[in-house]
Amino acid sequence: MTDIRNIVILTGAGISQESGIPTFRSEDGLWEQHRVEDVATPEGYIRNPVLVHNFYNRLRKNLAGAEPNSAHRALARLEREWPRGSVTVITQNIDDLHERGGSQKVIHMHGELKSILCKACGAHSVWDRDSSEDDVCPVCGRKELRPDIVWFGEMPYFSEEIFEYLASGSLFLSIGTSGAVYPAAGFISTVNRLHYPSVEFNLRPSLQHSSFTFSVYGKAGITVPDFVDKLLEKGSIDFLKKTKV
Ligand code: NAD
Repeated sequence: MTDIRNIVILTGAGISQESGIPTFRSEDGLWEQHRVEDVATPEGYIRNPVLVHNFYNRLRKNLAGAEPNSAHRALARLEREWPRGSVTVITQNIDDLHERGGSQKVIHMHGELKSILCKACGAHSVWDRDSSEDDVCPVCGRKELRPDIVWFGEMPYFSEEIFEYLASGSLFLSIGTSGAVYPAAGFISTVNRLHYPSVEFNLRPSLQHSSFTFSVYGKAGITVPDFVDKLLEKGSIDFLKKTKV
């Protein structure tokens, strides 16, 4: 087994599910009772900006009542205690539960609920209250604010940095993501081209499960802390051999 140094972790909505934050793809294909085209595309925003602001205002309020769970905290512990390299979390999540759980190196590739984007000047400003079309940009003073969320059809943030982290990684963990949203769903192909091991954590096999070296199924709040304990104790992932499907 290769010597593990830098650990790159991709997280999705599943890691926050046990904190009471609903995941994205319900059985009926809706996100919190809304069509994705209405609340997560630039076209939806142009059609009905009030609906979109209110949608993310509700998510921001829900987030205020949520707490990080044991999976978030375990990743923070791994970052603090891993002795042989960096631990970087690349998250598709727009919540701040990794940061509140203690992680320091977190890349939000799909934006953040607690940030607002000015369409006029491009500034990203910290925002922790409701937003509307009447709010003014704290930087340029114009009324051009929109939720700072990367919607379908838009370019994710930090693509170059993410590629560099993947290129210098030696272990890839993917936690609570369906493998349906690109480009994040394609990270595993990059990892496989670079020939280092990967582990998927999910309730069930994701769309990409066969591309991973190992899979661990169960609730992230149980499986991730258990994995982190063993990884820190043994310094390798040899213990996973038994769980490969
Ligand atoms: P997704 O909802 O499409 O998939 C969630 C995955 O997590 C599923 O494969 C599911 O089986 C798994 N899962 C659910 N509960 C789990 C648990 N307790 N333990 C382990 N796995 C569990 O999410 P995605 O792949 O992240 O894509 C959704 C998009 O929606 C993202 O781009 C994200 O920006 C956005 N989103 C974010 C949040 C958030 O910030 N918490 C919530 C919903 C949606």
